Order: sequence, then structure tokens, then C-alpha cells
Amino acid sequence: MSTLLLKHAAVLTLNAENTILESSSIAIQDEKIIAIGEPPREFVADEIIDAQHHVALPGFFNAHTHAAMTLLRGSAEDLPLDRWFNEGIWRTESALQEEDVYWGVALAACEMLRSGTVAFADHYFYMHNVARVVQESGMKALLAWCVFGSDFAKEMGPTTLELTSDFVAEFQNSAGGRIKTMLGPHSPYISTERSLRDAANVARKLNVGCHIHVSESQAQVDNSYKQFGKSPVAYLNELGIFDNPSIAAHAIYVNEDDIEILRAKKVSVAACPKTHLKLAMQTTRIVDLLNAGVHVALGTDGAASNNNLDMLEVMRLAALLQKHDSGDATVLPSMEALRLATQHGARAMGFNNSGVLQVDADADLILLDMDKPHLVPRHNLAANIVHSARASDVNYVIVNGKVLLRQGELTTLDEEKIMREAEARGLRMARSAQGQTQMYKG
Ligand SMILES: [Zn+2]
Repeated sequence: MSTLLLKHAAVLTLNAENTILESSSIAIQDEKIIAIGEPPREFVADEIIDAQHHVALPGFFNAHTHAAMTLLRGSAEDLPLDRWFNEGIWRTESALQEEDVYWGVALAACEMLRSGTVAFADHYFYMHNVARVVQESGMKALLAWCVFGSDFAKEMGPTTLELTSDFVAEFQNSAGGRIKTMLGPHSPYISTERSLRDAANVARKLNVGCHIHVSESQAQVDNSYKQFGKSPVAYLNELGIFDNPSIAAHAIYVNEDDIEILRAKKVSVAACPKTHLKLAMQTTRIVDLLNAGVHVALGTDGAASNNNLDMLEVMRLAALLQKHDSGDATVLPSMEALRLATQHGARAMGFNNSGVLQVDADADLILLDMDKPHLVPRHNLAANIVHSARASDVNYVIVNGKVLLRQGELTTLDEEKIMREAEARGLRMARSAQGQTQMYKG
């Protein structure tokens, strides 16, 4: 048994009543919060953290990323979506080696922990190497092995639906429950109808969902009507992709019928506003989706289109963009934006006992140092976090009761070594990248 006591923290619980406590203790035993307010009388702590001037809140859940793409950070700049894929990403990824994924994800884990992210929904290749980082770092993750399933695309490595379903069978609920899995068909615009139908069948058999890209551009939607006579969301739904709770990344161009499908099938939409801004796309209609009863979470997307993995920034951009685009400053208030970045992400990823600070919840929380000029005075704690806080204010990260960032120091990852390896591998990929692909025609 291990025990941990946080003392003198402000606590932003994100419970149903939005309770905020002042100068409180949080008692943690093994993986769970066992008391908030006063610790139990007989409680003996292995470690005590004096959290004066800090606020404790649920950690961030990044609901859509490609963590290893940290290796491609800054490698495909100032390009629209089609050229970003064809001339940038797929060209550089042609040089991807299996072991690169481990180091790219390790780099991502350092960055995510430093900015308060406790869990990430990853969609990439060689996912057993992502699982290794999750095991070693102490983070939580929902892992989906991407399959292009296309007539003209070469798969990344020896990827088949059989191999990715073996991955699900091996890793589902592994690392003490910190790893969950989905299938990862790439998208309706790359994957063939047959490969999507196969993925849906296997997902049903394994009782997992699918993590998939959906409706990122008007051209994708137009092509879908031309080819299949229906929208991408309706098409995927008919193929059975949404039969288990799934994650639809982006879902920007959706009509009212699509929204009803997403709601009825309990699909979680992962909005990635920074990618949308950077690639000059429209953005996910978060407020409309929420008002219609669709579950919405937030993601950074990969560092090749973001160019970081900072959920504080994503949360802020989500709130700002919704206000700006709707012409209504009252939409997506700070407490709601915080919920999207934490609790909603936890549910999207199947960590249903996380994303809230209350007794019996998983101890997945962060401490922000609020004793900073840009966070004073405190008229509105949630607004200070959403609109003023910085990643560098994150001082502690705790996942399943284990301290992974202590006073700004990573406890499980060798950051210096990881940065050196990732730098060398990213540069090698760029040097040896070859050719172009016209795989993306959306
Ligand atoms: Zn993506």
C-alpha cells in the first residue's frame, strides 16, 4: 500500500456542483482518492506535498493525438491539408523505423506530463512501442493502431487488421488498467469500404470502439456524396464503425442528421482547434454539438500540425474560437472548457472513474502553482486556469496515485537522453525521406 497527502491546496473538483475548496487536504491511497477536506484520523502518509499557493484539478485527457509525430515537429510548415499530407507528412514518414516510435512518444510523454496531461488517445503505428512508453512513464492511454486499408497506400510496417486486433487482445486493460485500446482505421477518405467493414466487424467481436478521422474538409464531404451518396458520418455509421463507443477526430463538416447519429451512437468527437487554425480549416462546432447532446472532448492532434501537445493551449483556443465564430461571448465558459479537457476526455477514452476530484475517484490530478503574477488576483479560478495559466505553471502531476512530475521534475523518464535520441531520429527521418505520395485527394 502507498499513501500520499496533499495539504493546503485549493481544489477545483469538477464534481456535479462545481465545488471549489480552499486550503484543503487530499488523501490518496494506492490509486484512489480516499478523502478530500480533512484526511482520515488514522491516515499515515508516505509522502506529504505542501500544496500552499497551488490549485489541484483533474489532469488533462488528450483525446486525439499522434504522439510519435513529435519527431516531425516543424517539418511541414505553412501548407494546406492536402499538401501537408502529400508533400510533408507521408514523405517524411516513409523513413519511419519501428524504434523511432518509442523515442517520439517518450518525447511526447515528457512534454505532455510537463503541461499537465495524464492520459492520451493515440492513433499511430508500431503501437507496442507506444505501450512501452505508457508502461514506463506511468501515464494512461487509449491506443489505436492505425491501418490505412487503402488500395494504393503502403501500410506503415507489417500492419494488417489481424495484427492490430492481436494488439488489442494483448494490451486491452494492461499496465494495471492504464492502457485501453481501440481499432484505428485511418479515415473514410483513405480506407476502402471493405477495410472499414472488416474493421467494424473485428471491433464488434473484440468489444472495442474505433478511433478514426472524420469530415475534416468540405472536399472530403463532397467526395463522400459523390462516391457513396451520403455524408462521411452516415457512411461510417452504416458500415458499423460506430457500433461500440468510438472517437471521431475533428468532425468539422457535419449536418443535423450526422449530429443525431453521433449523439445516438455515443460517439465522442475530439476537437483539435489548433490544427484547424494552423491548416486554415473550419473548426468543430463544439457548442452546437454539446447543445445537441453529443459528447465532445479536446485533443492536440499530432505535433506536426499543432506544433505542441499543450492541452492548456488547446482548451483556451477551443473557448476563444467558439466565442469568436458564434459572435457570442457567453458560450463555452471556463468551467465548461475545463470539463471538456479533463472529464469529457476521460469518458471518451473509457477512464470512467477519472476526471473528477472526489472520494473513490482515480487519483489522476495536477497541481498548478498559482503564485505567479499572471494568475493574480483570483476573481475566477477557472478563468485564471483557462485563459491565463501556462504549461510552466504545472508543478506536480499524479496518475493513479503516483507522482510523475514532482516540483517540475519528471520522476519516471530520462528527459535529457530522450531529447537527444528524438532529435537525432527526427533529423535522420527528414534526411532520408523520399518521394511524394498522392494518397490524399480529399
Ligand atoms: Zn489526427
